[in-house]
Amino acid sequence: MKYILRNKLRLIPMALTAFLLTLSLTACGNASGGAGSAEPEGAAEEYSKTVYAMDIPIDLKAWGKQAREAVEEAGQELQRIDSLLSVTNAESQIGQLNARTGSTISGETLDVVQDSVRLSELTGGAFNITIYPVVRAWGFTTGGEYRVPSDAEITELLTHVGMDKFTLSESGNDSAEVVFSDEKTMLDTGAITKGYASDRVYEIFDSHGIDSALCSLGGNIITKGKKTDGSQWRVGITDPFNPDDYCIAVAVEDKFLVTSGGYERYFNADDGIRYIHIMDPETGRPVDNDLESVTIISDHGAEADALSTALFVKGRDAAIDFWKNCTELEFDMILIDDDGTMYVTEGIADSSTATGNYPVKIIH
Ligand code: ADP
Ligand code: MG
Repeated sequence: MKYILRNKLRLIPMALTAFLLTLSLTACGNASGGAGSAEPEGAAEEYSKTVYAMDIPIDLKAWGKQAREAVEEAGQELQRIDSLLSVTNAESQIGQLNARTGSTISGETLDVVQDSVRLSELTGGAFNITIYPVVRAWGFTTGGEYRVPSDAEITELLTHVGMDKFTLSESGNDSAEVVFSDEKTMLDTGAITKGYASDRVYEIFDSHGIDSALCSLGGNIITKGKKTDGSQWRVGITDPFNPDDYCIAVAVEDKFLVTSGGYERYFNADDGIRYIHIMDPETGRPVDNDLESVTIISDHGAEADALSTALFVKGRDAAIDFWKNCTELEFDMILIDDDGTMYVTEGIADSSTATGNYPVKIIH
């Protein structure tokens, strides 16, 4: 724990866009795709913009000679990816698959779906892009009313859930056909889309020679290079018990940080229970375990996104076992459990600083 926090307000809070806007990205342009803003002549060449995509405002900020071009291109790319993969847009490729109005997907969508298949296998099904009929029944992503489905309804819906209920066949010209074996099976890449998009944004920044950038896509943070003063980025992880604050800070460079937590999207039902937007594919019910949030820190955006969802589903001990035993994926993580203990993997132990009173345990 060598990192000493000098100025709390200079941290970058995750999953907290408003806070991020006011404290860290103060030079940002207007929300909803508004104009970008550039620093006055003579200052470091800096450009930032907030675009609206994937149902959230996304803050992009870059420094470098081509900062403006890079940020503008990244903003357009985010909207393009959204129009390809959005589950709530009937015209998107995923929307068409689910409505059975189309069965062809582009090579790019195929990449995302194949990556989802791989991560589903690696996580023993905790990450499952066919969970959508269940997600919808609870009222998430439909824009309609939240509700608690009956046990019988959940049991029926689960018969349409399963990664074995569709097949992919590449059709040559950078496209593929998706064939469902069950009429009601649907796909939702929502738990990996922002991570995939983050990888694309990073590549775009790279192609424009940007070596310092910071972006926030809801619970997904991209850090590119270091800050212009040569120091590392310090990212604050939201306190799940008090989401207006953060409880641990990590010093990083060139990393994707993705947090999944129950505090992000939920509803309180008449039965007094709080139901969250991440589902356990085994039960068809919102996750209700000993974890409050999972943060993955990785070189790969899509992997980090899928893993944050999957390890949140698994619960504390299974998530720790997964980290210890998974040889295919390399990542660090911070788990915050329901009594406020923070579990930090050894790779980031020295670069993390608890900013509140929660105890920290290092995972080796
Ligand atoms: P967010 O997208 O809110 O940042 P996540 O990345 O954790 O959070 O993804 C949660 C979304 O993914 C849900 O809103 C739902 O659409 C979908 N989803 C829910 N449970 C699962 C699951 N077990 N596997 C894959 N996708 C899921
Ligand atoms: Mg995710």
